[in-house]
Amino acid sequence: MNEQHPHQNALRQLPGISTLLDAMASEVTVWGHAEVTRALRDHLALLRQNLLEGREPDLAIDRIREAARQVLARRASASLVNVFNLSGIVLHSNLGRANLAPRAVAAVAEVAEGASNLEFDLATGKRGDRESHVEALICELTGAEAATAVNNNAAAVLLALNTVAMGHKVLVSRGELVEIGGSFRVPDIMARAGCSLTEVGTTNRTHIRDYEALADEAALIMKVHASNYRIEGFTASPGESALAQVANDHGIPFMIDLGSGNLIDFKALGLPPEPTVADAIKSGADLVTFSGDKLLGGPQAGLVAGRADLIAQLKANPLKRALRIDKMTLAALAETLKLYRDPGSLPRTLPTLRLILRTEADIRGVAEALLPTFESALGASYHVAVTATRSQIGSGALPVETLPSYAITLRARSGDDSDLRSLGDRLRSLPRPVVGRIQQGALWLDLRCLEPEATEQFTLQLRELNG
Ligand SMILES: *Cc1c(COP(=O)(O)O)cnc(C)c1O
Repeated sequence: MNEQHPHQNALRQLPGISTLLDAMASEVTVWGHAEVTRALRDHLALLRQNLLEGREPDLAIDRIREAARQVLARRASASLVNVFNLSGIVLHSNLGRANLAPRAVAAVAEVAEGASNLEFDLATGKRGDRESHVEALICELTGAEAATAVNNNAAAVLLALNTVAMGHKVLVSRGELVEIGGSFRVPDIMARAGCSLTEVGTTNRTHIRDYEALADEAALIMKVHASNYRIEGFTASPGESALAQVANDHGIPFMIDLGSGNLIDFKALGLPPEPTVADAIKSGADLVTFSGDKLLGGPQAGLVAGRADLIAQLKANPLKRALRIDKMTLAALAETLKLYRDPGSLPRTLPTLRLILRTEADIRGVAEALLPTFESALGASYHVAVTATRSQIGSGALPVETLPSYAITLRARSGDDSDLRSLGDRLRSLPRPVVGRIQQGALWLDLRCLEPEATEQFTLQLRELNG
């Protein structure tokens, strides 16, 4: 026996099922004894196999409990589950965009659990304003006079357009009439906001005189930040300050839909430049709209920063009630924004930025460490390699610039596409599904978003790929 399994002794370290059940008394109350036992047995089997193969999985009771909880949650709801995002796109809209910082996650749990002063002013004992919990922070970080927050940036744009320009014309450059992710089209939002779109210039070139010629009849000039596309070559578009000037000369507001809510100097971090909300405000924009879950790295939300009188109008619009932000989102947003008060720590504290800044060498190290595990899990039918690749930030941020990264590439030795697709299916049916991409006859698993803390869980479940 010992000869067959040189690591048999290691099995003694495994905690017993009754010890674990004792540690999971609250889960037993929720899920029932049988379900919890089943989840624990499954996880223990996985650990046992890893021990027998000479690995050293974490056997702490807390870790086992956490793993069993994940299995339970997955079985109970099997619909919305965490996945490993190895798609090569950091902010992937279909995979939930930004990962929240631990402090933001904790704030969500806390506010969800009990009553809070969501709309209650503790100083006066009177009714309060839910966005008061983030407004001052947004102003502090963007230089804006006032701010508000709604459900997402599409809602922010809808609310702003409807408030400032319902029944009137809005000037937008033809080069900016974009569609984002198939469901946000500037002309459609404009129509639903009750505004009439006036297209300015041509797709590739728009001049300040084009705006001037039309501004008399308009109620708003809107600029949409080039998000998931870039027009290159013979192009022209006026700068923000020039547009702000035209709007000002005609007594109408100037709004910028920035899309990604970048609040920091990307260039200083060695990244390609990306305009900040503060830049937009400084250039003279009266309203700036942006997402909470793109570069900002927070929860799904839409933020509007700008002139106090206009923000007051937005807050008074009845649509605001339909678009209002939820308390858990607010809690996460407030904690995320607070991280920005210590910008030097952001590369550590803000997961989105940390993933964007991960070095090629670091990612390559992860890939090389995983290579043997993949080889032994997949056997002879697949060829496994570590391959240089480029990751995208995603969600429209910096559409052209990509980040050097490394992937595990898996190729079916049969050369058969169906073998590759079936491997993709198997990866997606693991306890925590793994999402990669198929490209050039290989399955690519870009490891930029696999951080060291998650590697063990990732490796453990790869054993299940066998067969
Ligand atoms: C992403 C984006 C939107 C939509 O924002 P959501 O937060 O996804 O609703 C609108 N405008 C621009 C320019 C964007 O990039």
